[in-house]
Amino acid sequence: MIYLDNGATSFHKPVQVRRAILDAMIRCANPGRGGYRAAMEAANEVFRCRETAGRMFGCTPEQVVFTSNCTHGLNIAIRTLVKPGANVVISGFEHNAVTRTLYGLGAVVHTAGRKLFDWDDTLREFDAALNTRPDAAVFTHVSNVFGYILPVAEMAGMCRARGIPFVVDAAQSAGCLPVSLEALGADFIAMPGHKGLLGPQGTGLLLCGREPEPLLTGGTGSESVRQEMPEFTPDRAEAGTLNVPGIAGLRAGMEYVEQVGTDRILSRESQCARRCAEELEKLGMQVFYGAHQAGTVSFRPGMDCEAAAQILSRRGIAVRAGLHCAPLAHESAGTLETGTVRVSFGHDASPRQLRMLAEAASKLPPR
Ligand code: PLP
Repeated sequence: MIYLDNGATSFHKPVQVRRAILDAMIRCANPGRGGYRAAMEAANEVFRCRETAGRMFGCTPEQVVFTSNCTHGLNIAIRTLVKPGANVVISGFEHNAVTRTLYGLGAVVHTAGRKLFDWDDTLREFDAALNTRPDAAVFTHVSNVFGYILPVAEMAGMCRARGIPFVVDAAQSAGCLPVSLEALGADFIAMPGHKGLLGPQGTGLLLCGREPEPLLTGGTGSESVRQEMPEFTPDRAEAGTLNVPGIAGLRAGMEYVEQVGTDRILSRESQCARRCAEELEKLGMQVFYGAHQAGTVSFRPGMDCEAAAQILSRRGIAVRAGLHCAPLAHESAGTLETGTVRVSFGHDASPRQLRMLAEAASKLPPR
């Protein structure tokens, strides 16, 4: 199988990740719940992962909260900053993890910047929207549908200059672009562990620039006599037993990414995405490609997108078709009615993958 659905989750994990998971299952009991050796091994394993995340993402180990995916982290972050009925500015490319959460809170949402690959438009519209003095802003670093890399450093600067708290969704950027809590000055940055960081499913990180409100309450192994959750991070947001094998695997994945380098990973992925766009265009597909694009390309053939993905699947190519849980991004790009076929390259992007995809896509009708 040629796996080109890394936007959903990374599939070819480095062997170190598998080894670390197995090793943790053999060595580790419950962290923070005992002083015996297997509990201490677990505590050390968890702290090692916090340290690795802190080093990679410009924060202290204590600012790292373990979550079960990016959605979990976004929920903690958004529910901390956004009270029911609050005014919130978002980009035109948000995932349902953001928009459904805001909808559920009854937030008044202002969508700013809907032109694909256009930093001038994104920044102008975002700036104007912030002038309405919203209570918070939430924006994605990279669109999961189109691979559009948003100008998050400038957007963060605009929020900071006005004192507007903000959340960055790094679901598609962690592992291929620099992400720093300190540099962005964000209140929260949420990311999955299972995509670009190459950890297993069921892992995620929330980097906290302020104290989060707990989404879950329960045991933390700290301040057990009190009935309120501890005031301090990460315990405040980590009720219940942690996914220690997953966390060990995530640490190994992050170390692998650190070793290869996010710049090399991005360059590999985005070069393949550019060449993929050229090939698909030659085949007569409608391709969404532009400046500031990471390793994801969406296209529309001359047939139903889901059916096209099935044809590709029968030829051994794994891509995703439809709305990709981001109807807002499709509305912005004018593809809400049809969805798109999404090709998303990963850390192992290669010319062979590209060749195989182009060969299989040549069987699809042009648009
Ligand atoms: N945000 C974006 C931009 C995404 O692409 C995704 C997943 O595809 C999410 C949030 C949710 O991530 P998870 O599946 O880890 O909860």
